[in-house]
Amino acid sequence: MKETKSTCPYCGVGCGVIIESQGDQITGVRGDPDHPANFGRLCTKGSTLHLTATAEVTRQTRLLHPLLRDQAGMAPYRISWDSALGIATDRFARTIAEHGPDAVGFYISGQLLTEDYYVFNKLAKGLIGTNNVDTNSRLCMSSAVAGYKMTLGADAPPNCYDDVNHADCIFIVGSNTAWAHPILFRRIEDAKRARPDMKIIFCDPRRTDTAEIADLYLPLQPGTDVMLFHGLLHIMLWEGWVKPDYITAHTNGFDALKARVRECTPELVAQTCGLKREDLFTAAKWFATSASTLSLYCQGLNQSSSGTAKNAALINLHLATAQIGKPGAGPFSLTGQPNAMGGREVGGLANLLSAHRDLANPAHRAEVAALWGVPSVPEKPGKTAVEMFQAAADGEIKALWIACTNPAQSMPDQSTVRRALERAEFVVVQEAFLTTATCDYADLLLPATTWGEKTGTVTNSERRISRVRPAVAAPGGTRHDWVIAVEFARGLEARLRPGAPTLFPYDTADATAGAEAVWNEHRESTRGRDLDITGLSYPVLEQAPQQWPLPAGASTGKARLYEDGVFPTADGKARFADVAYQPLAEPRESRYPFSLTTGRLRDHWHGMSRTGTLGRLFGHVPEPTVQMHPQDMDRRKLAEGDLVHVTSKRGSIVLPVQASDEIGLSQAFIAMHWGGEYLSGCSSTGARLAGVNAITTSAYCPTSKQPELKHAAVKILKAELP
Ligand code: SF4
Repeated sequence: MKETKSTCPYCGVGCGVIIESQGDQITGVRGDPDHPANFGRLCTKGSTLHLTATAEVTRQTRLLHPLLRDQAGMAPYRISWDSALGIATDRFARTIAEHGPDAVGFYISGQLLTEDYYVFNKLAKGLIGTNNVDTNSRLCMSSAVAGYKMTLGADAPPNCYDDVNHADCIFIVGSNTAWAHPILFRRIEDAKRARPDMKIIFCDPRRTDTAEIADLYLPLQPGTDVMLFHGLLHIMLWEGWVKPDYITAHTNGFDALKARVRECTPELVAQTCGLKREDLFTAAKWFATSASTLSLYCQGLNQSSSGTAKNAALINLHLATAQIGKPGAGPFSLTGQPNAMGGREVGGLANLLSAHRDLANPAHRAEVAALWGVPSVPEKPGKTAVEMFQAAADGEIKALWIACTNPAQSMPDQSTVRRALERAEFVVVQEAFLTTATCDYADLLLPATTWGEKTGTVTNSERRISRVRPAVAAPGGTRHDWVIAVEFARGLEARLRPGAPTLFPYDTADATAGAEAVWNEHRESTRGRDLDITGLSYPVLEQAPQQWPLPAGASTGKARLYEDGVFPTADGKARFADVAYQPLAEPRESRYPFSLTTGRLRDHWHGMSRTGTLGRLFGHVPEPTVQMHPQDMDRRKLAEGDLVHVTSKRGSIVLPVQASDEIGLSQAFIAMHWGGEYLSGCSSTGARLAGVNAITTSAYCPTSKQPELKHAAVKILKAELP
């Protein structure tokens, strides 16, 4: 039996795993006791990874050879890799020649490794000359990126998991940590057990399992977070709990914010947020006066039409109370996906460039062009996720390349997304699994390797870079994601830059050497930047995962940032964000009287292409439902299990209703995972169903462009059975 150290491919906790294998079969998995993210622990998803990689599951679910579909609705048929890459090159080259580089778009994924991300970014921005490259990470963390940059000056989560063990107060807001980041939650439980005096505040419209550990639960009304944070600051100011010395020495802009929060009286905040006045005082006191306060937050803040403002308003509290830059204190955003952080690091989003550079900055564009050896990087901003599919639906983007993600389920407002996939003249889907709804729209399907087969790196929520290693050979005709991108890029280079030396000189025949060469190029791009990793290498990562920054000469990465009170801004000071409270994009009203929110289940991951292959993972929540408050069900004469239409302005889905005291009156919850294989029926075009995103809104935060997946106004009516 062989043992291979790698990393779990699910959530942003980034747990280390040891894969057991025999020949080409993965036979077991266990937590890596040496990995600092989990010290040997795994959750239900991680501990069953090996069962999702059996020969039987591979046979039933994997895309193992390139497939071409001649006509929509027809079954795709097998072709060779040479033919597949030739067709892809022809179609993209023709589209670029006829309509310009912005007529193509790449929609990639926080599931990809850093090396994959790097190559796709260079392919789009360096070779083709379009910034139309965005990622499903736009749906999970772009508000966190924008919030950090607006206040602290750089997209750098300042904390580490060990801060949980130092915190005297933990403020969990907009995160069902117990289910979405289970191994981090185990750490919080351990800390609370060891130090019962530690205060835990949990703030979320739903009273999820995370509330079980809280000393104070704040069931705020959906979308009112900014009002709450401003109200807490108002109380802190009134009570004299802010830290004037820190504010003066290390920040700018406090006076403007102070003037704004003057209006946010406890009475107004209690009324707007649906909270008790005395709870606001308790929360403000614990946050401000504890020796160290750590905030943990996730999609409840990010997936919002005011996501950036929510992030920034929370960070304001940390700056005003000096709860940052010391053990156990700081605003710690949790990433949903295993490598959303790596994508940010290589600039794999439409508005970013390598190593936290900004596309809008001419000097940054020139630096990246020089690093890549291209004349320039285009100035025009690329289309972000929602914009990209809207542009395809409008006929502006004509060729789409989708890698390792399932927009026909995960994007909001599916009617637009599916119209885009139908209208685009050529859709490439690069995937490991043939079971996603997006595969139904592909003209060309390219089979990719996945967990247990790939090599490269990922970065978790605490800035820790870990190696991903292959335990078994790539099955069938699958190829690594970065290799597919490089082979396509080289074909395109022959058309776009004939005779010029390749921009992609990586060894595709030796996956580890090639991936290391890609990573080394990425590393060079970080020199002198806030995330400088010039002191890091694959050999160093062989010893242990490391946090960034780790510049040349340093022996280890930095556990926490801003301990010296110096921030990466022009004058070294952090900036208070004077952000306004904005109501929801689509408030509930008489015709749509329910606030629908979406979220994760404990035992499933995204569209369930992997976790859905395991019967045992349906034991916790066996079927899709819409959860409602029991009183709302009584009022509408609904019984447990009744089928209901859940309808928004964009569409309708039918689900059984389930009573839940986790949610408030006039609220409803549907898990994001159910769709595709796991909902019966298909769309009018024969494609698998989208699930809850048939009804969500694509309204997005104007700064981060992250859509408001956490809220849509809906009506819920009993379905009449025929
Ligand atoms: Fe994997 Fe996240 Fe579970 Fe860790 S907590 S085992 S990274 S899913």
